[in-house]
Amino acid sequence: MKKMGIKGFRVETCFGGAKCPNRILETGHLVELIVKGFEAENLLGFFQEQTQEPIQYHHEFKTSVSDCPNACSRPQIKDLGIIGAILPKIVDIPCNACEACSVNCKENAIAINTEFKHPVIDLELCVRCGQCVKICPTHTLAIGEKGFRIQVGGKLGRRPKLGTELPGIYNEEEVISILSKCISFYKMQGKNGERFGQVLARFGMNEIINPRF
Ligand code: SF4
Ligand code: SF4
Ligand code: SF4
Repeated sequence: MKKMGIKGFRVETCFGGAKCPNRILETGHLVELIVKGFEAENLLGFFQEQTQEPIQYHHEFKTSVSDCPNACSRPQIKDLGIIGAILPKIVDIPCNACEACSVNCKENAIAINTEFKHPVIDLELCVRCGQCVKICPTHTLAIGEKGFRIQVGGKLGRRPKLGTELPGIYNEEEVISILSKCISFYKMQGKNGERFGQVLARFGMNEIINPRF
């Protein structure tokens, strides 16, 4: 039995499209591709074969796209979370040591060597929000990579879990390829409508996710 509005998948987005100043990139086209990808997979049919109960919201494979690392659409708790990202790089243009980047970085990921007038970025702390690139008056900080961070296997329910982040930043084509491989793996190994995160917990991330497949 199918409940109204239940499609076997769900794609949510943040409100970046409403001219949010934090928005990193336009995600409308990616969202269209994601929906098409899901439609081709017939997840509703898959869930109907898997469970003897009516298909509900909690069965659906959930994806969320946020246009920046503020992650307002909660990609961390979805089966697949997609987050707009800019990785900054330091280019060979003199820095004036104004410290605008270090003062405005909410992650304290930039320090300025005032003696040599040079920024230093801690990539462990940096969340790839790109705000330092926007604010740098000399353009010493530039866009190194622009695309999407990806998190997999997040969920709520009885045992909530945040998604595990894949290393790197991915372009649209790579996001769709990863989505397709995740769904294939889920359909191959998922049992009784369990969440993708439970499948990953059984098999381990390293065994099944090669981030550049
Ligand atoms: S995730 Fe970023 S771009 Fe989207 S609404 Fe939130 S702050 Fe704005
Ligand atoms: S990209 Fe964002 S988090 Fe990373 S250093 Fe720049 S301002 Fe800080
Ligand atoms: S990198 Fe840019 S924003 Fe940061 S201190 Fe230098 S000039 Fe200022």
